[in-house]
Amino acid sequence: MSWNKIRRLIGIRANILDGRVLADKIMDEIAKKLQALKERKNIVPGLAVVLIGDDPASQIYVRNKQKACQRVGIDSYVKKFDKDVSLNHVLGFINELNSDVHINGILVQLPLPSHINPEFVINAISPDKDVDGFHPLNAGKLMRGESCLEPCTPKGIIRLVEQTGEEIAGKNVCVIGRSNIVGKPVSLMFLKRDATVTICHSKTDSLANVTSRADILVVAAGKPNLIDDRFVKEGSIVIDVGINRTDNGLTGDMDFEKASGKAGWITPVPGGVGPVTISMLLENTLLAAQKRGVYEL
Ligand code: NDP
Repeated sequence: MSWNKIRRLIGIRANILDGRVLADKIMDEIAKKLQALKERKNIVPGLAVVLIGDDPASQIYVRNKQKACQRVGIDSYVKKFDKDVSLNHVLGFINELNSDVHINGILVQLPLPSHINPEFVINAISPDKDVDGFHPLNAGKLMRGESCLEPCTPKGIIRLVEQTGEEIAGKNVCVIGRSNIVGKPVSLMFLKRDATVTICHSKTDSLANVTSRADILVVAAGKPNLIDDRFVKEGSIVIDVGINRTDNGLTGDMDFEKASGKAGWITPVPGGVGPVTISMLLENTLLAAQKRGVYEL
């Protein structure tokens, strides 16, 4: 009988990295800092969220972001556009937000309708207000290891790994996924922390051979049940970024039951990366506002 089977039979399971608990803690800290910012400099940060079209998932995400802003004391403004709005109209509105002193952060909820090129929209956001960290200037700074507004999900992934108390430097990290919003930036962030990073994607040969050597495995493919215990190194940290809407409800990219029989630490879906991502958006809005405060004094 394999050790993995014995481990499961005797009930050894991975520790759960609870994203809700971590997000609560981060939001409480942000609320305190915002209170101090208000008292000392009379600044209440403002976050503008642009929502285009009627995608139901996007509407839920935007509502959750609004609620989180309310909880910590950030003013949030949501601008909704009809799905047929022209690109020029959206760009004009973003320009107005760029010069609005009450707005510290601008976020355009993705995905966008097919006639609106997300690159044009993201590039139009002032890099100082780019709280999603998607603007090429922030992406370039991240690549060079310079200080910048970092993208929220990768930032949240690092925070979750830090929760384990394990050192990142020197670890083998494997990231499944090479998107500009998760896979590439999180790989750079681990590299900056002196990990040895391998990036996998849909053309990677023998995926399990690569992933099963990883001390830290980040799965961001958007494919339910892509990963089970065969892909996981004994005792490793496994972060499931995937959000998949299936007939059985919301799932990540992992077979949680099997993977948690082998991993040392694991994130659930829901309740893992998602809540921490939102708390990082609030943190970026605070950082953007603090920067403005420094410039004005
Ligand atoms: P993308 O679709 O942009 O990228 C997916 C990546 O996974 C691609 O690089 C793709 O490879 C790779 N991939 C797909 N299938 C496989 C496979 N079978 N084996 C190995 N690699 C594979 O997705 P995102 O990065 O935007 O998002 C990934 C997931 O994370 C989604 O489920 C998304 O919903 C979720 N997400 C969750 C967030 C949260 O807050 N929790 C935030 C953002 C995203 P290739 O490049 O070769 O096509």
